[in-house]
Amino acid sequence: MEIELRLVPENKRRPVPELKNLIFGRLFTEHMFVMEYDCNRGWHSARIEPYGAITLDPAAIVLHYAQTIFEGLKAYFGVDGKIRLFRPWENMRRLNRSAERLCMPKIDEDFVLEAIKKLILIDRAWIPREKGAALYIRPFMFGTEPSLGVKPSHSYLLIVILSPVSAYYQEGFNPVKIYVTDEFVRAAPGGTGEVKAGGNYAASLKAAEVAKSKGYTQVLWLDAVERRYVEEVGTMNIFFYFEDELVTPALSGSILPGITRDSVIKLARHWGLPVSERRVSIEEVIEGAASGRLKECFGTGTAAVISPVGVLCYQGQEYLINRGETGPLARRLFDELTAIQYGEKEDPFGWTVVLG
Ligand SMILES: *Cc1c(COP(=O)(O)O)cnc(C)c1O
Repeated sequence: MEIELRLVPENKRRPVPELKNLIFGRLFTEHMFVMEYDCNRGWHSARIEPYGAITLDPAAIVLHYAQTIFEGLKAYFGVDGKIRLFRPWENMRRLNRSAERLCMPKIDEDFVLEAIKKLILIDRAWIPREKGAALYIRPFMFGTEPSLGVKPSHSYLLIVILSPVSAYYQEGFNPVKIYVTDEFVRAAPGGTGEVKAGGNYAASLKAAEVAKSKGYTQVLWLDAVERRYVEEVGTMNIFFYFEDELVTPALSGSILPGITRDSVIKLARHWGLPVSERRVSIEEVIEGAASGRLKECFGTGTAAVISPVGVLCYQGQEYLINRGETGPLARRLFDELTAIQYGEKEDPFGWTVVLG
């Protein structure tokens, strides 16, 4: 399939604003990639066109039954002037796993990745140059068929939009305060927690609001069955550094398999640190925090890379981790991963893709 280019003429393009102090996900670049699907023609009409509003039938399935999935990755402007993506084929694979779970059509992973690269190169002037800042890439797909029947849509749109984002840590690499909820759950076994389905995030808003109203940044989620085993923190995976073992909850079916999570596991093992993927109970965590056996705790995800956790609140009690400070392992992982992403250090894993 060809990608049709319907670009904004050079002399009509918006001047690129100063890419500083950006609020996450509010500013978008000049163009977007769009591709359509229907049962008869399959994927068709792939094009790069001006960023703008789309029309949808009010009965579009996505608006009623949330048949929608997404991905999130970044393009980094390197210290050598090269643009890099970080393990983007993993995002394409995960998009297809999400599509499969929500009865949506598969995409050609190579084709969509090529389209993303093309789009980024067209809007390359929008990639912030500072270390830590990046161009956030948001591919998403949703059911467009006008039908109030609960069933998989016969037609879909896949769109990719780009948003320049500032460094996540504008005020330093500081730990966050986390609220452990035993009231709400994010995902249950057999549900959609292990894919990036839009509905998961709508369902998580209430718990996040409650946590915020109590003065905490994020929610720590426990398993839906026993409300005992740790699953994730906010929209990040979570790690615990106990004595000399780095632990993260095993992928149970209700945990999102983060690409940053996988990168942290591989990097820590490469450094000779034992890593286990296993069940971690909230009792083990709070006992570890109290005794000092728990040396560090941090979240992992594309947005923050590493997000240190300084305080946990569980059943009305606050527990301090590493005196509420960022630990050396969190810092080392953050420094190493960002150095690879910005081309400052060699990439021994073959994780980066250079554009151009
Ligand atoms: C996207 C996401 C993550 C992190 O995944 P990365 O691939 O590392 O960005 C973790 N948990 C949830 C719930 C997510 O949506």
